[in-house]
Amino acid sequence: MPNADDELKQLKQVLEIPSGREWEATVRLLLRLIGEDPNREGLRRTPLRVKRSFQYLTSGYRLDPAKILNRSFKVKHDEMVIVKDIDVWSLCEHHLLPFFGKCHIAYMPDKRIVGLSKIPRLVDAFARRLQVQERLTVQIAEAINEHLKPLGVACVIEASHLCMMMRGVQKQNARAVTSSMLGLFRTDVKTRSEFLTLIRSELA
Ligand SMILES: [Zn+2]
Repeated sequence: MPNADDELKQLKQVLEIPSGREWEATVRLLLRLIGEDPNREGLRRTPLRVKRSFQYLTSGYRLDPAKILNRSFKVKHDEMVIVKDIDVWSLCEHHLLPFFGKCHIAYMPDKRIVGLSKIPRLVDAFARRLQVQERLTVQIAEAINEHLKPLGVACVIEASHLCMMMRGVQKQNARAVTSSMLGLFRTDVKTRSEFLTLIRSELA
């Protein structure tokens, strides 16, 4: 099996794409395949825009979750920490179409906590990649578990998928809900239901 780099090299040779023009060639080809004219006025700068847009939407590959979470500090706090309603913007890896919604995260610290602003940054680091919602949910929970070593972590994501809304089944109001519960959130019913109640309440 050729790896992705070899495959790209071969393609560039066959298609005679000069280095640095890969995005332009690819997007122009895509436009042609759609039946469009890449040279028409409105599309002329589209390859550059698509390149920048995709680089931003996949910038999570260049972020290191360990670095985001490494500035944790010691506290006596041993109550549940919840960050809810975090915006999630991601791309489904099957169709390269967006899915978006809200993420709710909780953990039970074991003497260490992390700045609250790090949690949404962690979500972005995993969401700005090609994803499936289930894996995104698990990756967020496992990263907190690994780097913060809490007594438990919970992550719930509710998201709408454009690949379902705009095409295919066209179920406009269907939202997918995924969850990952580790440690106390998995083993202790009280902890889990406290979390689920808090993310539903307006006060949390
Ligand atoms: Zn999809």
